[in-house]
Amino acid sequence: MKRHLKVKSKLKAIIFGAPGAGKGTYSSRLQAKLGVDVIAMGDIFRESVKQNSVLGKKVKSYVEKGALVPDDVVVEVLKDRLNKVPKGKGFLLDGFPRTLDQAKTLEGITGIDVILLLDVPDEIIIQRLSSRRICKKCGDVYNIRFLKSKVEGVCDKCGGELYQRADDNPEVIKNRLQVYKNQTEPLIAYYTKKKIPFVISGTKSLDSPPDPMVAKMLEDLKKLKLA
Ligand code: ADP
Ligand code: ZN
Repeated sequence: MKRHLKVKSKLKAIIFGAPGAGKGTYSSRLQAKLGVDVIAMGDIFRESVKQNSVLGKKVKSYVEKGALVPDDVVVEVLKDRLNKVPKGKGFLLDGFPRTLDQAKTLEGITGIDVILLLDVPDEIIIQRLSSRRICKKCGDVYNIRFLKSKVEGVCDKCGGELYQRADDNPEVIKNRLQVYKNQTEPLIAYYTKKKIPFVISGTKSLDSPPDPMVAKMLEDLKKLKLA
């Protein structure tokens, strides 16, 4: 008899880690493999600022400073976006929750199967963020020092133009890291206490290529029957 592994069809996951830990890089690679919609709060906010929409006007000053957007605004965006996840698909939250209050609110909205934790030392983060580049069209992440595109300034995937995020400058990076340490990092203890499983990926050197680490993460998810 043929044996079928029971695989979870609608994964509900959070990708967690400091700014610059690689959440966007991992998410874009895991999206198809896990059959999830990636919900990236920062991307939604940046896009709305670019469009100068009602939401954009509300969040602009916060995003520019690297400060947290008020919870009521963030939660509304999250609920709205979760409602748009196609039936049969799971989701991967990138950039939510970022505070204990947000985590508690999330609990009232949905359960979470697993947390993907990217554990990266501060020195690496700071160096990475200041040389990060992002594709204007598809959001793919590059780095002019450690993860170069084949052609300078051009996305490997879609040919789009690469740009530097306005908040990837030293002053704002410092602020974002501070906010992470004070408000977001305590969530690791919170979810540990809740007994939500973690899959952890550690980065030890500046130029470790993401693909093998993403593959390892998928292996670990398979072991948990989550992929
Ligand atoms: P990072 O690379 O620092 O993780 P993101 O792209 O996830 O950045 O977010 C960019 C900015 O958007 C944050 O600095 C913050 O101003 C705002 N933001 C994103 N997610 C949240 C959230 N869950 N709560 C409050 N503000 C948020
Ligand atoms: Zn692209």
